Amino acid sequence: MEIKYFEFAKHLIRFNRQVYLDHNATTPVSDHVRNKMDRTLKYHYGNPSSFYGMGRKSAGLLEEAREQVANAIHAAPYEVIFTACATESNNAVLKSVAAHFYPQKKKIISTPIEHPSITNTLAYLETQGVVVEFCPVDNKGRVQLAELEKLVDEDTFLVCCILANNETGVLQDIKAVTKIAKKHGALVLTDCVQALGKIPIDVHAWDVDYASFSAHKLYGPKGVGALYVKQGSPFAPFLHGGHQESGLRAGTESIHNIVGFGAACQQVEKLLAHAGLVRALKGQLIQRLKEIKPDCVVNSPEADSECLPNTLSISFPGVENAALMGMLDYRGIAVSAGSACSTGDDAPSHVLKAIGLSDQAARETIRMSLGHDTSARDIQYTAQVVQDYLEGRISYVNMLAPAQLNETILFSKDTYILDVRPSDDRKRFKGLPNAHEVNPLYVERYLKQLPRDKQIVVYCPGGGLSVMISYYLKSKGFKRITNLRGGLDAWRERRSDLYQKYAGQNMQVLEEDSER
Ligand code: PLP
Repeated sequence: MEIKYFEFAKHLIRFNRQVYLDHNATTPVSDHVRNKMDRTLKYHYGNPSSFYGMGRKSAGLLEEAREQVANAIHAAPYEVIFTACATESNNAVLKSVAAHFYPQKKKIISTPIEHPSITNTLAYLETQGVVVEFCPVDNKGRVQLAELEKLVDEDTFLVCCILANNETGVLQDIKAVTKIAKKHGALVLTDCVQALGKIPIDVHAWDVDYASFSAHKLYGPKGVGALYVKQGSPFAPFLHGGHQESGLRAGTESIHNIVGFGAACQQVEKLLAHAGLVRALKGQLIQRLKEIKPDCVVNSPEADSECLPNTLSISFPGVENAALMGMLDYRGIAVSAGSACSTGDDAPSHVLKAIGLSDQAARETIRMSLGHDTSARDIQYTAQVVQDYLEGRISYVNMLAPAQLNETILFSKDTYILDVRPSDDRKRFKGLPNAHEVNPLYVERYLKQLPRDKQIVVYCPGGGLSVMISYYLKSKGFKRITNLRGGLDAWRERRSDLYQKYAGQNMQVLEEDSER
């Protein structure tokens, strides 16, 4: 009896375990950071631009944080500008440098594995006449320096190269990139968002002109970024208004966030000292996953010097990433997809495509990113859950291929269609006929209205969010759950005949349960 109870309790503990393996998306806020931010919010609310004591105190905190960030990246404090996020930092540099040089010089050279805050800004600049060329990378994502040599010329005003890629963790030899750029008088921007706290950063030694950072990847708060601008490199404000940040970034400073960023940077040395352990845990994870599925493919470079210690991009042939992520979420494990399907966009990741993965392989890829608090037990548990799933010991959600969703299923009395799309997608596209719309952020508020005797077909724009919700419904005892693979986007494409004929018919918006 006692043994049975113990086994049951063990099962419950295991089932309720939470493992966060998505530190490249964002990190938890450390206690040290939170304490400093709490004190600032409570006591130091003065505006740093005010001359009286409370304002001066805030101004002092602002400068202290600037020094802390500067120390962490080996810059001078006057070279650090606080922004709202790294997306702003990247936008500010690209647009300002383009305005400075264009049309005297016309070209930016970048890589095909940049973050969207770079790629989409470059796409915008192209509409303004700037010429953007991409230097090829090899199958591990390493920039081909010989190709870069050929591309950079006297018409190039900027080389823009990410230091550490967010999806695969591949690192670039930024010193070598800078050397090539400088030979032709081009400036260099490097996105260091994923690197700070994981590998040493030295913007002066690398001789880059601009570098972007974000606190929330470093156990700091969301909503604050930093931009390094080398003294003397051209830079014009992105936001106009007050004289804050030496006139380079207007807007009252978010003091508590900035203090949080500074506090996070105080811990960089500690994080770097811990990086070896994180790397060792990642190694154990890779080893276990290779034992479980020998044909899995590690997309991240395996040499220590070429990859972030915490990042693993891995493909499991024949295993859909959306389904795997949904199942892992069901077991309390947070990972992300190599493709952006989790965000509703079914397009395979541009990074994975750039390193040569097919669309299919990209849709079989997940990213696991460890943190300084990840434990060996987290790794063992994750590997065990993956093994249980691949060996059929976890009951999974049915996946319905878009081409299979026909009139018979759509209009069957046994089918209940659940629309979990975000509101912006609903504004853009009509949904499946007979669908019941719920707010995907609060699915738990509709449970009483969902039928337990019907087949519930759950769909979202890209098939990622819906699979998570499908597993959630399964955990709540709904037995017949089917997820529409690829979501509405795929169905619109594969069954455009049915979409034209029936989309938007007889939709129903469910009210939240009054008593929860
Ligand atoms: N650059 C990289 C490499 C990133 O990973 C991210 C965030 O995911 C960003 C830029 C954007 O940072 P933020 O969230 O501060 O805008």
